[in-house]
Amino acid sequence: MYLSKLFVPITKDIPAEAKIKSHQLMLQTGMIKQSSAGIYSWLPLGFKVMKKIENIVREEQNFIGAQEMLMPTIQSAEIWKESGRYEDYGEEMLRIKDRQGREMLYGPTNEELITDVFRSSVKSYKSLPQILYHIQWKFRDEIRPRFGVMRCKEFFMKDAYSFDLTDEDAKKSYNKMFYSYLKTFNRMGLKAIPMAADTGPIGGDLSHEFVILAETGESQIYADKNIFQIDLNEYKFDEASLKKMRNDFTNIYAVTDEKFKKDNFDKFVKKENQMITRGIEVGHIFYFSDKYSEPMNCLIDDKNGKKTSVKMGSYGIGVSRLVGATIEANYNNNVMKWPKSISPFDVVILPSINKNNTENIDKAEKIYKELKKQNIDVLLDDVDENMSNKFKKHDLIGIPFQIIIGSKSKGDELEFKELNSKSEILSLDKIKSKLIT
Ligand code: ATP
Ligand code: MG
Repeated sequence: MYLSKLFVPITKDIPAEAKIKSHQLMLQTGMIKQSSAGIYSWLPLGFKVMKKIENIVREEQNFIGAQEMLMPTIQSAEIWKESGRYEDYGEEMLRIKDRQGREMLYGPTNEELITDVFRSSVKSYKSLPQILYHIQWKFRDEIRPRFGVMRCKEFFMKDAYSFDLTDEDAKKSYNKMFYSYLKTFNRMGLKAIPMAADTGPIGGDLSHEFVILAETGESQIYADKNIFQIDLNEYKFDEASLKKMRNDFTNIYAVTDEKFKKDNFDKFVKKENQMITRGIEVGHIFYFSDKYSEPMNCLIDDKNGKKTSVKMGSYGIGVSRLVGATIEANYNNNVMKWPKSISPFDVVILPSINKNNTENIDKAEKIYKELKKQNIDVLLDDVDENMSNKFKKHDLIGIPFQIIIGSKSKGDELEFKELNSKSEILSLDKIKSKLIT
């Protein structure tokens, strides 16, 4: 893609309404455009990043055997009356009527809908366990939408639901999901801490929030630094190993302010390991047993032919929030550097443009074609402006690698730079191999 052709309305001004870096940067680099309070359009650059995140989430859900499906955004109020949440959910739920006057709503979450799908399809324990998920827009009429895509009304979420015969089996599903979440965030270059959490309106007795560290986060967190020493690669994908993994994580102190008690913090965490900081919740998992299956009559036959309520858990990841959260976690010294796995482009070519001499731009186009052939997603900045402005702009767009075509690039030896490091002179073959691995 040539930058001059890309629909990316970059602005130099810092939008006044944006209070935190990710919101400012997403507006400045034309990743999103607000359409009304808490509702955004995703423009090509932002959409690309979100799709990459979505794909990592999808791959890691599929890896643990979860199956993708798609439920509608608009739901009937009937099922929410069955579970008793129609009243409880309050004003965050956007309620609508269709032309027949039927009560409908824009789904804030899908426990009821998936329970309804499940109860009409599965009757026997023999079909269990099952984990189903979808990646779909949600709507919550947040009282104070803020921080851009971090807390908005309409947002993109992956939500998964597990179905098991017994509590014990359900905890195995929970552990798989716990593992999948940590792998997902690792692949995005994020260090996520699982924290014991309150279960809130979803209800239930076992719940973890996955929080990434960022000064601008809404949650205050208290944790033992040793949580970062655990290496996920040490665990295999089997029941015993996953159980050990969850124990290892949950044995290390990490809580949000809702659960914080100073005495416990001092008792369980050595002074030098105490970490008090802020974080952003990017995922939340719950085990709530028969909270929905019981009132909604979602029954299955057990081994003795006895009817029992299926045991369920639900598991959310804020896919659109993660775009902003990743910026908060990676923006440093006026430079945004996307992790390679979710960067909008793999590399950008920056030719120094001279109207009287097309040598640099010709060379840039040649390299562009070469890289394209190797399936490298490359951006060519063909905009006619001076190099210092180009560098400033790309410090914000955040593509991690640059090929600079100016005085230092001679013949086949090219100036290659990774953001936040010194540039080096490399052959195109070396550059290709760096970009591919
Ligand atoms: P929060 O406490 O931040 O309101 P929640 O506990 O209500 O979140 P869940 O219902 O568990 O959130 O939703 C799963 C995930 O969806 C959250 O971990 C978060 O990443 C994301 N999410 C929730 N609400 C919003 C929102 N208003 N805007 C963007 N993302 C959201
Ligand atoms: Mg909420």
